[in-house]
Amino acid sequence: MTFNTVQEARNWASSFLEQHDREPRVGELLLRYLLGVSQSQWLAMGRDVLDQDVANTFATWIHDHAVTGKPVEHFTNEVDFFDDTFYVDERVLIPRPETEELVLAVLNEVNGGEVIVDVGTGSGIIALSLKGRLKDATVIGTDLSEDALAVARSNGERLQRDVLWTSGDFLKPVLDEGATPDIIVSNPPYIPHAERDSLSETVSLHDPAEALFAEMNGLAAYDTIVKQVMQLDVRPKLIAFEIGYDQGESVPALIQSYDSAADVRVIQDINGKDRIVLWN
Ligand code: GLN
Repeated sequence: MTFNTVQEARNWASSFLEQHDREPRVGELLLRYLLGVSQSQWLAMGRDVLDQDVANTFATWIHDHAVTGKPVEHFTNEVDFFDDTFYVDERVLIPRPETEELVLAVLNEVNGGEVIVDVGTGSGIIALSLKGRLKDATVIGTDLSEDALAVARSNGERLQRDVLWTSGDFLKPVLDEGATPDIIVSNPPYIPHAERDSLSETVSLHDPAEALFAEMNGLAAYDTIVKQVMQLDVRPKLIAFEIGYDQGESVPALIQSYDSAADVRVIQDINGKDRIVLWN
C-alpha cells in the first residue's frame, strides 16, 4: 500500500478495514490520535502530506487491528469519560459510554458527604468520576485484580483525586474493615458465558474475561454483592448496579429474593435499554 496524504491514508484504511469486517471508522480514530488533532483540524487536513513515521505506524496499527481486533484504546492507551481522559490497557475493561449514565444516576441521589464504594472498580472511572464531582465524599474503590488496581491508582494520581484503593472480592474489604458505606455502586461482570461467541472479538479477546463474564447466567456477581450487602451492619441508602440489557427483571428479582421489601427501580440508557438498577 502507498499513501502520501492524510486523505489517501484514510481511504486506504477504510477499505482495508471493511474487507476485514472491521469498523472503517477505526482508521480515522487512530490517525487522528497519531496526528494529535481535533475533529475540526482533522477535517481541514485531507491534502496534507503524511509524515513517513506516522504513515508507517498507522499502517502497522491498521493491520494489527484488522487481524486481531485489538481495540483502538489498546493502541492509544486512553479513553474519555465525562470530562476526563483515563489511562487504560489490557489489564482493565475499556470504559463504555453507558457507564456514564450509572455515574449520573448516583450523582442524582447524593448530597456530597457520603462514604461511597465502587465495587470492582477496574480502571477506577466510576470512583474517580464521583470523587471529581463530590469533593467531600469518601470514595473507596475495590477490585480483586491487583493489576486493575495498579491502573486505577495511576489514574487517581494523574487526576490528583484522592480515592482509597483496596483489593478483595467485591465488598469483602469493606466488610473486613467493618466500614458502613452510604452508597454502593458497581459495574460488575454480567455477560453469561454462553454469549461469548456472539460478542465482537474486540471485546471477547481483548477485555479481561473476569470483567465481562459471570456464572449463573450472568448473575453471579450481583448474587455475591447482594449477599455481602445483607451482611453490613447498616443498610446503605443506595445500591446502584449497571446491568445487561436483558437483566431488568432478573436482577430486581434476585435482590428481592434476599430482601422481599427492597425498593428497586430499573432505568433505561439513552438507547432505551434496561441498564441501571437502583436499590434504596
Ligand atoms: N457493558 C459491557 C459490554 O457490553 C460489559 C461489561 C460488564 O459485564 N460489566 O461489553
